[in-house]
Amino acid sequence: MLTGKTALITGGSRGIGKAIALKLASQGSQIAIVYAGNDTAALQTVAECEKFGVKAKAYKCDVSDFGAVKETVAQIKGDMGRIDVLVNSAGITRDKLIAMMNEPDFDSVVSVNLKGTFNMIKHCAPIFIRQRGGRIINISSVSGIMGNAGQANYSASKAGIIGLTKATARELAPRGITCNAIAPGFIKTDMTEGLGDNQEILAAIPLKRMGQPEEVAELAAFLAGDGASYITGEVVRIDGGMAM
Ligand code: NAD
Repeated sequence: MLTGKTALITGGSRGIGKAIALKLASQGSQIAIVYAGNDTAALQTVAECEKFGVKAKAYKCDVSDFGAVKETVAQIKGDMGRIDVLVNSAGITRDKLIAMMNEPDFDSVVSVNLKGTFNMIKHCAPIFIRQRGGRIINISSVSGIMGNAGQANYSASKAGIIGLTKATARELAPRGITCNAIAPGFIKTDMTEGLGDNQEILAAIPLKRMGQPEEVAELAAFLAGDGASYITGEVVRIDGGMAM
């Protein structure tokens, strides 16, 4: 159980981030979600979290904006009193072959996915250090492990998250803070809309189906909980066996 704790989840308005917010709320954690644009979806997540009897609030903030993240983290700490768990799930894709990929395609994906994760860690770490503990869970991807044609920008950002995770884990371990990454395969969300029936994709997945956001949320809850206190710097694949 996470009673008395506060979890900050980026990308919490939908998809994997939303499933994680609901799972952690169900375990008694206060929830702060950070989202990019859709106010209605964000407020919907908040309302669903509140049904578990916990305090929940949504914060609109572009995670790639260093100054905005600093302000938002301070606001969340003020509103919630503490932050114990940081889940970096905000992410975007701009899939194109390298021949077609332009500079903004590359920069925007790396800025949101990789720099956004750094920005959140940078501004939450001092809070974790003062509290002598904290859990950081970064959502990477199997694309960052295997590479994926048409996703040079995304694969680079997700591989970068793995390096960032390991460096953070080593640096913050002496402070009692753990940092792990989750590397999902194909999970059914808006990001993968329309891929569910793609036979080529299903053929590459030994379990022959896409994953559900709730399955990723179970793993995140484990990494946030007491059972994972001796795990740090790990990258856990959740991909139906695709990248083994
Ligand atoms: P999604 O598109 O459904 O949700 C993305 C979330 O990120 C939204 O809440 C959005 O508001 C937020 N977001 C986007 N840009 C942002 C920004 N600049 N600032 C703040 N928030 C921002 O995506 P999803 O499928 O739930 O993916 C969640 C994470 O999991 C992403 O990092 C994605 O790369 C990763 N992932 C997804 C899959 C998959 O198959 N769905 C597979 C591997 C990894």
